[in-house]
Amino acid sequence: MTPLKLGATIGILGDGQLGRMLSQAASRLGFKVVTFGPDKGSPAAQVSLASKVAAYSDEAALIKFAEQCDVVTFEFENVPAKSLDVLVANGAIVAPSSKALRITQDRVLEKTFAREQGIGTVDFFVVDSLEDLAEAYRNSPTPEALLKTRREGYDGKGQVWVRGPGEVANAFATLGGRPAILESKADFVREISVVAARDWNGAVKTFPIGENHHVHGILSTTLAPADVPDAVQAQAREIAAKVLNGLDYVGVLAVELFVLPGDKLLLNEIAPRVHNSGHWTQDGCLCDQFEMHIRAVAGWPLGDADALHTVEMTNLLGPDILDWPRLSAEPKSRLYVYGKDDPRPGRKMGHINRIVS
Ligand code: AMP
Repeated sequence: MTPLKLGATIGILGDGQLGRMLSQAASRLGFKVVTFGPDKGSPAAQVSLASKVAAYSDEAALIKFAEQCDVVTFEFENVPAKSLDVLVANGAIVAPSSKALRITQDRVLEKTFAREQGIGTVDFFVVDSLEDLAEAYRNSPTPEALLKTRREGYDGKGQVWVRGPGEVANAFATLGGRPAILESKADFVREISVVAARDWNGAVKTFPIGENHHVHGILSTTLAPADVPDAVQAQAREIAAKVLNGLDYVGVLAVELFVLPGDKLLLNEIAPRVHNSGHWTQDGCLCDQFEMHIRAVAGWPLGDADALHTVEMTNLLGPDILDWPRLSAEPKSRLYVYGKDDPRPGRKMGHINRIVS
């Protein structure tokens, strides 16, 4: 890939806060950004040169977008992989690839891929019917198991615990009978994530590991670099490299991991994009995850991923954002606001990075 020239145009599919922060990073490096997504006045559109408001399935709009952009990336893993195929068929350079998106969009394909790379996962069972679920639950090595939709679940949505044979039918109905996966319960002691990048030549850089705390299935805080043993750091970096290389990936991704007693790591999921647990890098590293992603897809050298500071990132969900007058006055912290109007409960409205040291 020939490095993009200053002033080149980067297209971003998806128009949420991740697109917004990618767009800001791209414009700081002298690129123009055009966003593509379904919502008018979206967080990403507010800070970009232009925005196309269209459905991801709108082929005519995708073809025009392909003509406009020197490279196209995405900020949202539920963009249909077919949309990327349409872009490529019309001459666009797209990174990450539709192959990476297809695998990571489906929890069964994702875990199967991880195992093929020699990465541990919880035991899992494919569930297409109530009978499948009953059998899967009987075979689960743990009495508590988590039923998740195969596709499109995030932030704890599309998931229900099964804690006994009597709960099987109800759990299946709760997910509306959609194709699903039953996962045995991981008895983790901590949850960590690793955010890493790969460029067009296969070079890999990994940010220090973050430790994550979830509340009601939604990320609440990330502390990074996490205070984890060197062996855990090394294992997590190795897993990230296996995932990046196995997917022939270009750009930034995040791998969420469970740490079991004895420091064994299991892969929970792969996010084929910049990730909430990487927001700390905005104030912890010289090159944050957003700039890293833009550099990777633009064919530029990857930036410096070492930590300069320890940072605690806290998500501002729903009405938390209304506290901005107090938050904006905090010393040694930086407030990020996503430009969304309606602070409904649980909605990601912004975050604050607090420098710990
Ligand atoms: P996910 O959407 O798959 O990242 O799941 C959201 C959260 O649910 C995770 O961060 C964990 O806290 C929890 N979780 C997911 N899968 C499992 C599992 N197999 N065992 C135990 N906890 C889980």
